[in-house]
Amino acid sequence: MDMLTSIEGRSVIVTGASKGIGKGIARVFSSKGARVLIASRDLSQAEAAAAEIRTVGGSVSAIAADVSQAEDNVRMAQTAIERHGGIDILCCNAGIYPTATLFDMSAADWDQVMDINLKGTFLSVHACLPALKARGKGRIVVTSSITGPITGNAGWSHYAASKAGQLGFIRTAAIELAPHNITVNAVLPGNIFTEGLHDLGPEYIARMTSAIPARRLGSVEDIAYAALFLASDEAAYITGQTIVVDGGQVLPESQSAIEDLY
Ligand code: NAP
Repeated sequence: MDMLTSIEGRSVIVTGASKGIGKGIARVFSSKGARVLIASRDLSQAEAAAAEIRTVGGSVSAIAADVSQAEDNVRMAQTAIERHGGIDILCCNAGIYPTATLFDMSAADWDQVMDINLKGTFLSVHACLPALKARGKGRIVVTSSITGPITGNAGWSHYAASKAGQLGFIRTAAIELAPHNITVNAVLPGNIFTEGLHDLGPEYIARMTSAIPARRLGSVEDIAYAALFLASDEAAYITGQTIVVDGGQVLPESQSAIEDLY
């Protein structure tokens, strides 16, 4: 029997989906027959991503929405309801990862990362909840990170706090939403090759690749398939949980533990 056929026809919102992991999630869900609404701040990039996915046969449209703004999230939810007749699955994926050491970090740097990554997750969930509840069942899948929940990485204390914060959020949200058959889970990516990661530069990418037992960065599909599973009917009894998708990056006790492998 084919697994994960329950995605077909479902109404899905993916935030931060004009690029990177979000675009990969939108592509994989639409390839399984979902109707997907792509949200990002830049409308032309979101529309370009939707057009690209449509060429391979998906049902995808775009909207401009900044997840850190409550009214944008409400408009996003309303648009999914208008276009798809409701909301079944919300993928809270929008996130930023600028760097600043603690010595250089301003309060504004901290607030910007928290507003988008952590408050944005809450605001998207909050805006979509009435529609998810009305369906009688629903799925929320959050893109967190290994950074914060499991590892530390210099320059990313605000980011790490935001990503660990998302896990605190899902554990309580999962309890509150269980009576409504809405599950809330997170995918924790390692280093995934995206536009955002590309911008961190070749030196960063080489350093990270050498720290991964699989000796490659992840693809956006690696994350999207984990999100797809968590969003399926088959995952109905999993809530408040996390799946690490990192090619084994968190496992080595030391650099030498993987140096001899290759
Ligand atoms: P990316 O390539 O930089 O793409 C980020 C996407 O989010 C873009 O579509 C961007 O479009 C959108 N976005 C940013 N701020 C937004 C906002 N305020 N409201 C709505 N959309 C917004 O990033 P990525 O690497 O795919 O990362 C996606 C998620 O995965 C993030 O939550 C990140 O923390 C997480 N993650 C990534 C990695 C990795 O290795 N790449 C690892 C662990 C976790 P606009 O700028 O037009 O809004």
